[in-house]
Amino acid sequence: MTTAPATAAATSLYIDGAWVAARSGDTREIVCPADGAVVATVSEAGREDTERAIAAARAAFDSGVWPSVPAPRRGDLLLRTAARLRERREEFARAESLDTGKRIVESRIDMDDIAACFEYFGRLAGQEAGRVVDAGDNAVVSRVVHEPVGVCGMITPWNYPLLQAAWKMAPALAAGCTFVLKPSELTPSTAMLMMDVFEELGLPAGVANLVTGAGAAAGAPLSEHPDVDMVSFTGGLETGKRIAAAASATVKKVALELGGKNPNVVFADADFDAAVDNALNAAFVHSGQVCSAGARLIVERSIAERFVDELVRRAEGIRLGGPFDDGAETGPLISAAHREKVDAYVRAGVAEGARLRCGGRSGDGDLEAGQYYLPTVLDRVERGMSVVVDEAFGPVVTVETFGDEDEAVATANDTHYGLAGAVWTQDAGRAQRVAGRLRHGTIWINDFHPYLPQAEWGGFGQSGVGRELGPSGLAEYQEAKHIYQNTAPQVTGWFADHGKG
Ligand code: NAD
Repeated sequence: MTTAPATAAATSLYIDGAWVAARSGDTREIVCPADGAVVATVSEAGREDTERAIAAARAAFDSGVWPSVPAPRRGDLLLRTAARLRERREEFARAESLDTGKRIVESRIDMDDIAACFEYFGRLAGQEAGRVVDAGDNAVVSRVVHEPVGVCGMITPWNYPLLQAAWKMAPALAAGCTFVLKPSELTPSTAMLMMDVFEELGLPAGVANLVTGAGAAAGAPLSEHPDVDMVSFTGGLETGKRIAAAASATVKKVALELGGKNPNVVFADADFDAAVDNALNAAFVHSGQVCSAGARLIVERSIAERFVDELVRRAEGIRLGGPFDDGAETGPLISAAHREKVDAYVRAGVAEGARLRCGGRSGDGDLEAGQYYLPTVLDRVERGMSVVVDEAFGPVVTVETFGDEDEAVATANDTHYGLAGAVWTQDAGRAQRVAGRLRHGTIWINDFHPYLPQAEWGGFGQSGVGRELGPSGLAEYQEAKHIYQNTAPQVTGWFADHGKG
């Protein structure tokens, strides 16, 4: 059970270096989806609170208090942030698990990944040097420098609450930006702890600001306000479209990390046991609430029956439970509303003719207190079905089959998304050929899910705009400026001087 002392803090907004309540005085209870326990009560920010936070971030940026700090020193602060996170790992992991219902072991891994992200961008900041350009004229000094974009609005989801925020905060701070973060209203606790770390380490007031509250009220100003230079969003496709449309009115820079409907392609010559095991991980880790979940299993027809039988057998054995249940292998969905959405996709699939092989219902017994949904396998699906086309974002995998390489690639690319995908084969040439033809931002060969802070992450198609992580992840938060100096200015003679004589 997740009995934790409810945080009595109704002052969860961090604005201009101070913890404050929402102007309205409104609060929200944060509920652990593993058992319905209230684990925190936080301020519910409204539009005016976010506008206050934007004003603080704007003033801090314009004062130069952070952008004018030399990049290597900004990098130092990121490295110290990583070290502090590692020291406070258990506290952070516990808070993340209470908000999300995620197993504590997974939250610990998330915290390690977040520290690694801060370390990567901390080191990258120290290497920032711009570039000298040869103008073809010895009298000219031409160089391109990278400056911070300015004030950034960051809007993040509930599945990896602090990790998704870290992918934005770390490069933004490395670049010299200031920001306002609005985490998911369901999972704000680790963002609050993060502000505490920044304060502890002496980040100047107004550089990092936090508003906790719902999207339409607390989030929308981040995409609309003229004082925000960039909005970086991770979340669902429909919200992303709304944010991009709102941001267009002030021509903000926009970065979008949206959903995925990610193919996991298995050829008959794949290592069978490894492919089955990884197909389980692909679909059911964090109960499928992963943007890169391998929710579309695409398997070569000759092995499909045996493969799916084994997958179903293993899926039926997966143990569900709460964050601190040592026997649990995965946890609950985030909310009752989300569980209903997942179930509706499964029911629609069955109504359209899919065959339900396992799952397709909530957990019973001890699991009834939480938002659990059993690992679900649907086969005999057709490409156009909503359960194959849309992101269910739950523990649901659909099975399609193929006869040859061309059919495998065509099926895997038949999606409006394009976030990630995998190919399983022991034929090295085929692995590279297929990886090259898949239209997705990350391709795994004989693996599923790993990512690296030093490698770009992002989507083709409607999975997003821009990239996080890697050198491009820093570039998102920078403007390139060309400085051209003529060291020997002369009269050009282009226009004759008609005024004299
Ligand atoms: P969501 O789109 O419902 O919400 C995301 C955030 O947007 C929340 O903070 C929410 O409060 C805010 N929001 C909602 N409406 C808003 C508005 N009008 N203006 C401003 N902000 C608004 O998504 P979710 O349900 O929290 O997260 C799940 C989604 O996130 C999935 O689609 C998943 O694929 C995606 N995701 C993508 C990645 C990636 O790297 N591509 C990573 C994690 C999650």
